Amino acid sequence: ERAKLAKLRRLPAVTTDGEEVELQANLEIPAELPLIAQAGAQGIGLLRTEFLFMNREDLPDEEAQVAAYAEILEAMDGEPVTIRVLDWGGEKDIEALAEGIPALGGPNPALGLRGVRMLLKRPELLEVQFAAILRVAAKGPVRILLPMVTIPAEVKQAREIYERVARRLRRRGERLPDPLPPLGAMIETPGAALAADAIALEADFFAIGTNDLAMYTLAVDRSEAEVAHLYDPLHPAVLRLVQFSTEAALRLRMPVSVCGEMAGNPRLVPLLLGLGIRSLSMNASAIPRAKQAVRSLDIADCARFARRVMEQSDPARIQELVMGFAEGLT
Ligand code: PEP
Ligand code: MG
Repeated sequence: ERAKLAKLRRLPAVTTDGEEVELQANLEIPAELPLIAQAGAQGIGLLRTEFLFMNREDLPDEEAQVAAYAEILEAMDGEPVTIRVLDWGGEKDIEALAEGIPALGGPNPALGLRGVRMLLKRPELLEVQFAAILRVAAKGPVRILLPMVTIPAEVKQAREIYERVARRLRRRGERLPDPLPPLGAMIETPGAALAADAIALEADFFAIGTNDLAMYTLAVDRSEAEVAHLYDPLHPAVLRLVQFSTEAALRLRMPVSVCGEMAGNPRLVPLLLGLGIRSLSMNASAIPRAKQAVRSLDIADCARFARRVMEQSDPARIQELVMGFAEGLT
């Protein structure tokens, strides 16, 4: 079994009817880089940059960030890398974050100043991060991702800062890619998902984050054990939001991926492909099995299956259908 999964590394992630699926890795700390190479990932679909800000007392300056991104891009050797700017707040380890980032306030951190909201309040943080990413962008195909977007104006404002930083770097003689690397939005709140058609007009790509999307949709904290039994990415409400945001992107021929934990569950791959998703980003260790699933699937079957699932409104019935389909494959 291990040997079989290892052999998969060199095989393409392509369905039985020849549809290519992009399988990328999520990266939380650079120490995971060797795992990514081993897993046969086609690049990094979600580079979480919180590690740069953790367990230190000051903020990482532009040079320190350039060094960190350069190391990762060089290790990825020309494979695409999607770098998400600081996603501070919520369940992230805020206690350990560097000083100089505003103290967490408010009665409900998950609904407070987090993600892109905080960055737009403290644009100097965003400026440093954009500058560092732009300075390494010649080393490989890079994209930049904004966390916790809920309105189109957040993407628009972030893009104004992004373009201003790029102009400043060019004036200084820095050679930057033209056009600039794409600037995308995480779709990870119900509001963003239901307004995905509007956000799509400002963003260059979507990454659907099913971890937070399920949390906010179902009002179930990701880290709260008492309600963990209610945390369910197969809840029809979550699936409808995934479907709506995927369709908003596909209508504009805009790239869209799923990068929450859901993407790493091989049993859920048929449903996601059936909904039109062709790019998944997951823990590196999940890639071989996801590839195995992709290579056993036919897109027309997946689409038919997804239509059947989306007709259902009972979460338990959806669970049954999904498990049943997965069983039929093995
Ligand atoms: C998500 O919310 O689904 C996601 C991918 O981001 P994170 O897990 O880092 O919040
Ligand atoms: Mg998230």
